[in-house]
Order: sequence, then C-alpha cells, then structure tokens
Amino acid sequence: MDVFAHILWTGGITKAVNNKREKQGKKPFSIIWSAFCGVAPDLFAFGPAFLLMFLGILSGSFHFSEIPQPDFHGVEDHPEGNFPYAYLSFALYNISHSAIIFLLVFALIWIIRKAPYWELSGWLLHILIDIPTHSSLFYPTPFLFSLSNFKISGVSWGVPWFMALNYGALLVFFVYLLLSRRKKSLKL
Ligand SMILES: [Zn+2]
Repeated sequence: MDVFAHILWTGGITKAVNNKREKQGKKPFSIIWSAFCGVAPDLFAFGPAFLLMFLGILSGSFHFSEIPQPDFHGVEDHPEGNFPYAYLSFALYNISHSAIIFLLVFALIWIIRKAPYWELSGWLLHILIDIPTHSSLFYPTPFLFSLSNFKISGVSWGVPWFMALNYGALLVFFVYLLLSRRKKSLKL
C-alpha cells in the first residue's frame, strides 16, 4: 500500500485502540510512534535508494528522466530490474517486510526494555496490510523471509478502483473516529 495510507491506517487504528484504553483507565499508545513504525518498512526499503538517486541528480551522474514509473498493470517483470539501486531496495525490502524479522526485533526490544514496545506493532500491521495489497508484479510481500520465499499475489494497491476503495474506507473510518470523539465530549 502507499505510504500515506499506511500512516493513516496505523494512526487511526492506534487512536481507536487508545479510545478503548482510555475507557479502561490505561495509558494510551503514542500515535506518532505507531504511525512512524507503520511507514518505516517502506522508508527503510526505499529511503536509501531515493537518497542515492537524489545525490546522483545533484552531482549530475543521474538524470531525473531515468527514474522509471512503477507499472502496476504491466507484464511480469522483476522489480530489481526496473529501478535504479533496485538491488539495494530489494534487499532492504526483504528485511523490513519479513514478519520473522519483526518478531525477532520485537522480542529483542522486549528483552532489553523488560517490557514490550507495543507501538512497534505498526510494523507488523504494515506487513499484514501489504500481503493482500501487492501483486506478484510489484514487490510482493516476502513476509516469511528468510525462512521461505513464499509470497502471495494479491490486488495491487495502485489500481484506481482499489485506491478509491481504500481512501473511501479511510474517510469512513476517520469520520467514525471524529463522531465517537464528539459523542464522548457531549457526555462530559
Ligand atoms: Zn510496504
């Protein structure tokens, strides 16, 4: 899914969870850190390649027109072949989109802090959202890396009808959050 939708879904779901926790008198989770963890897998995978491209453009060794447009409808191709620095992105994508690696990092941080850092769940949510929203044509989610290369070919988030459905669902969700907040403030 695109980075903006990842931020909005993670932030919105954390807000909904916080509403429940507030009722139970529990400390809310950080929406900012949850949303950051919700987009971090893509920043980690593509940030360095974009930075290298940007530096290449500044130094004149790389031209803007060389950046290919992602092809969501195209014929079977391999992402590593149509993107500058794609091998780097592909390697980092495997790491940041693996539920196995997420579990290892989550457990490690739990051991170090002696308490779970629940905001990190945004990372897992990112992987779970990506699994059905990437087709085999464009970065299918390697959620079992490095134990298995198994990937699911889902519906691409980039096709117009899915974009409309996704952002429509986000709009409904945020209106619901807003209305539930207003209901709460009316009760007070
Ligand atoms: Zn992703």
